[in-house]
Amino acid sequence: MSPSADSSRAAVALRTLRVNTAELLRQPGQRRGITECLEIALFGIDAPDADARQVDIALECESTLQGVRVTGSVEVARSGECRRCLAQVRWIESVPTDELYQREVTDADAIEIETDALDLAPLVRDLTALALAAELPLCRPDCAGLCPICGLDRNDATCACQTEIRDDRWAALDQLVLDEDLGAPDPAESPDPPG
Ligand SMILES: [Zn+2]
Ligand SMILES: [Zn+2]
Repeated sequence: MSPSADSSRAAVALRTLRVNTAELLRQPGQRRGITECLEIALFGIDAPDADARQVDIALECESTLQGVRVTGSVEVARSGECRRCLAQVRWIESVPTDELYQREVTDADAIEIETDALDLAPLVRDLTALALAAELPLCRPDCAGLCPICGLDRNDATCACQTEIRDDRWAALDQLVLDEDLGAPDPAESPDPPG
């Protein structure tokens, strides 16, 4: 496909994210739903994994006395490695939103509506970028991870590596052995004489 055909196809796809606010604001309480599945590439974002190709958009625009409230979420299919054991995982990353758009901004958090067509593409782009930047999940809530010494996957087997944090009382014993190595300990200086 030629670059110009590609960009006009993108323009047509992104037009589905434009909402006629003149019509919507005429009557508070009116709602307009937007349910679309669009290619992430349309937003000029590079996907970090092969599964993240499309974004499922489910937004609702509601006309309120304050302006147009946009709620809902976007969902992106993701894949990557479990952050503990590095097993391949697939999941759906969902990013919710709740934004207020106003013709005359009176709410500090509101976004200005510049024309009668509210373009939700920037919002969807931001939400999609968040879905793609999300932290890698665990393969399961109780994933045991890899042994830091031998690299064995502790979900499958147990190894003999000593990785537990030792009790402080053992550390005191280590110190005693060290003192003995340096010379005979003086019983008078012992902090905790027996008996
Ligand atoms: Zn895991
Ligand atoms: Zn090990």
